Amino acid sequence: MDKIMNLVEETEKEIQEQIQEIDKNCMINSKKVLDAFRHYEISETHFQSTTGYGYGDIGRDTIEKVFAEVLGSEDALVRGQFISGTHALTVTLFGLLRPGDTMLSITGKPYDTLDEVIGIVENESSLASFGIKYEQIDLIDDDFDYQQITKALQEKKYKLIEIQRSKGYSTRKSIPIEKVEKVIQQIRKISQDVIIMVDNCYCEFVEEKTPVEVGATVMVGSLIKNLGGGIAPNGAYVAGTHEVIEKVAERLTVPGEGREVGPSLGMNKDLLQGLFFAPSVVASSLKTAVFTSRILEKLGYLVEPKYNEKRVDIVQNIIFQDKEKLIKYCQGIQSASPIDSNALPTPWDMPGYTDQVIMAAGTFIQGSSIELSCDGPIREPYIAYQQGSLTYEYGKLGVISAILNMNSEE
Ligand SMILES: *Cc1c(COP(=O)(O)O)cnc(C)c1O
Repeated sequence: MDKIMNLVEETEKEIQEQIQEIDKNCMINSKKVLDAFRHYEISETHFQSTTGYGYGDIGRDTIEKVFAEVLGSEDALVRGQFISGTHALTVTLFGLLRPGDTMLSITGKPYDTLDEVIGIVENESSLASFGIKYEQIDLIDDDFDYQQITKALQEKKYKLIEIQRSKGYSTRKSIPIEKVEKVIQQIRKISQDVIIMVDNCYCEFVEEKTPVEVGATVMVGSLIKNLGGGIAPNGAYVAGTHEVIEKVAERLTVPGEGREVGPSLGMNKDLLQGLFFAPSVVASSLKTAVFTSRILEKLGYLVEPKYNEKRVDIVQNIIFQDKEKLIKYCQGIQSASPIDSNALPTPWDMPGYTDQVIMAAGTFIQGSSIELSCDGPIREPYIAYQQGSLTYEYGKLGVISAILNMNSEE
C-alpha cells in the first residue's frame, strides 16, 4: 500500500501542468453554460413537467435553446425519448436519408452498435433494408484520407457524410477539432449540400469549439456521457441547423407532430442541472484519465493517449496485451464503485457488439459512462477503455483499486 501511495504522489506531481490546462478549459465551458442559463432566464418554471403528449412543455423547449447556445448551433433536440447515443444517431440517419441515398463514413467503420443500423451486419430493419447505401473511407495514420475523400465526392453524389470523433472500440486515435475543421473545409470546396454528421460522443467540453462551430451540419451525443453531467437520467441530444433538427424530430416522434410532442416526465430539472455540472464533471473525468495514463505508464503499460498528449475525448486506453490483466483491472474498478461494488463483472455477449465485452460500471445511472467505468472487448491486444468519474478523487480511488487488484495474484 505504501508503495502505491508513493507512486500516486509522484504521478500527481508530474501531471500538474495538464491539470491546470483542464481547469482552464473548464472555466471557459462553465462560462458558456452560465451565460446560456442567464440569457434564457432559467427559473423554477422550467422545472415543470408534462405527461401524455407533452404539448407546451416550456422547460423542454427552453432546454433545447440552452443546449443550442452552449454548443454554438442554430437548433437542438434534447430528449429523454432518445434511449441512448446510438438511438439518436439512428434517428438522425433515418430522419435524413431516403431510399437511393448513399452515406459515406470518412472515419472508417463506425461504432459497433451502428453495424446493424447501417446494415454492415444484416438486419431486416437496417438502413440497407430501405435501399440506403453505405460506403466508407478508412483513416490513414489517424488522419483523413484527403485524396480518397476528394475523389469520391467528385465522382459521386452523397447525401450524408459521417465523422466519428471518438475511437469507439478501435485502436486509432480520436480526432481533434482542428482536423474536423480541415476536412469540412475540404468537403465544402467540392460539395455545398452534403450533410455532414458528426458522432460527437465523449468529446463535449473537452475542447473549446464544437463540430457545428467548425462547419458540421449536425452533431450527436449521449446524455449519459459528457453533457448529462452524471445527473441526466437518460437521453441524448442532436444539434445542428434548424432544417435538419426539424427532420430528425419528425422521425423521433411523428411526421406532422415533430418536436411539439414528447413529455418531459419530470426530467427537465435534471437535464438543466446535468448541463450545469457537465464542464466540471468532464474536467474530473479528464483529470482521472491523465492520472491513469501516467500511473499505468510508470508501471510499464502501454497507454493511449499519453498523459501529456492533447486530449479530444474522455477515454483512456490501457493496452494490456493480456486477457487476465484486462479482466482484473475492470474488476478492480468495479469493486471501488459506489454502486454494485460487490458485483464481479465477467465477459459477456452484449447486444450490438461482435466480440464478448467486459464492462465495469458501478454507476448511479445504468450504463452511464460519464461515471467512472471501464470496458473492453475480449480480443487482442486486450485494451481497456476507461472513461468518466464524477469527481477526480473517486476516479483516483478507482484506479488505485484496479492497480492493486491486477497485481494481487502475481
Ligand atoms: C458511446 C458512443 C456511442 C453511442 O453509444 P450509446 O451507448 O448508445 O450511448 C456512439 N459512438 C461513439 C463513438 C461512442 O463512444
